[in-house]
Amino acid sequence: MNPISDLPNIAALGAIDRAHLIHPVSAWRTHEQRGPTVLSSGRGAWLTDGEGRELLDGFAGLWCVNVGYGQESVVQAAAEQMRQLPYATGYFHYSSEPAIRLAEKLVQITPASLTRVYLTLGGSEAVDAAVRFIVQYYNAIGKPAKKHFIALERGYHGSSSTGAGLTALPAFHRGFDLPLPTQHYIPSPNPYRHAEGATNPQAVIDASVAALRAKVAELGADSVAAFFCEPIQGSGGVIVPPKGWLKAMREAARELDILFVVDEVITGFGRTGPMFACEAEGVEPDLMTMAKGLTSGYVPMGATMLSEKVYAGIADGAPPGVSVGHGATYSAHPVGAAVALEVLRLYQEGGVLAQGQRGALHFAAGLDALRSHPLVGDARHRGLLGALELVSDKASKAGFDPALGLADRIAAAAYRNGVVFRAFADNILGFAPALIFSEGEFVELFARVKKTLDEVLAAPDVRAAL
Ligand code: PMP
Repeated sequence: MNPISDLPNIAALGAIDRAHLIHPVSAWRTHEQRGPTVLSSGRGAWLTDGEGRELLDGFAGLWCVNVGYGQESVVQAAAEQMRQLPYATGYFHYSSEPAIRLAEKLVQITPASLTRVYLTLGGSEAVDAAVRFIVQYYNAIGKPAKKHFIALERGYHGSSSTGAGLTALPAFHRGFDLPLPTQHYIPSPNPYRHAEGATNPQAVIDASVAALRAKVAELGADSVAAFFCEPIQGSGGVIVPPKGWLKAMREAARELDILFVVDEVITGFGRTGPMFACEAEGVEPDLMTMAKGLTSGYVPMGATMLSEKVYAGIADGAPPGVSVGHGATYSAHPVGAAVALEVLRLYQEGGVLAQGQRGALHFAAGLDALRSHPLVGDARHRGLLGALELVSDKASKAGFDPALGLADRIAAAAYRNGVVFRAFADNILGFAPALIFSEGEFVELFARVKKTLDEVLAAPDVRAAL
């Protein structure tokens, strides 16, 4: 029985939501007026909302339901673990079989540099742990001056009290007294917005490396702890750097003697093709964060992985027997770990990763075909992560007046046309379908997207803005 669709009145449910439920990253008063969009069930690539509307989910929830909705074996894995042992602490040297097996598995499937695993409840907590471990590391190895962090403009690293300062999006700073004085940014490697991006990708890479070097020089090499980055920037508008960018930044960080932290919360677990985006470039980070696709969103879980060097620095830095004071009640939760193990089995033995790689060809073709649409300036993608950037003038790449609210209007019209994707700032539409999308579902996705773009294009104020 579905508890939500059984409720007699979706409007009554909406009223309760408006009165009591605070929604993540939302304008609170706006939400009170607008009310929620209640979702009631999901199957494969499809969602059903509280009014019975069928929606093709082009965003895999929040770029996380990589194996699609309704995977019965995942449900079984959770149920069995709950029946057998729903909870085990990791404190006081306790452990559980799923957590142990998951740690082993993650070490096997990530770059060879990463040998130690800290299991969290999601991405923000994974980033927060990474920051705390890095601070602990430099104190432990006798370099306490290394406290500054560098990240990318438009980057997203969650909304913990420090991670939100590495996130370089205004809403995450405004009113929160962020960024901290130790948090700094360099420009995004954005080929579309780089003068030579279309013809000379190396110039985008060189600019990024030079910016990192310059920022480290400005702050003083002895005071910089780490560089944090997403291999493809997600929440900042799906910014796809040229191939080779990640590797070049990794090399630069090594030369600059700063830790290289790759945030694979979105890009992990087949989202960009391989299991991790690092793999495509043979990059071995010092730390890696992950979440989302780890459990495909079925239950909350993330992870922070450390190289042996960072682990040993911390482990040997404390006096014998003294605890590293970082942890939570639900660290290494056995149900999360059991779900993750089954989801990982689906990616590999279940063929979902390979399915995603085949689907990526249809995804790319669908986005590329929309590049000629009058509203679209750029279509970019890697694997099953992509975006359309809307411009009012293709030659100058001028955007639309934010007052037009174009991307939000398109997302709302798309919903009415039975398709879900995401509107970002600067008129960017983001797509991240589940890895299990069929060829027919890609055809349907892009047919609905095109229909929506055509409808919005027909609006007089949009026409006038072109
Ligand atoms: N890092 C990245 C790259 C993310 O995209 C996100 C979430 N979108 C996070 C961290 C934070 O993860 P969570 O929302 O699970 O806390």
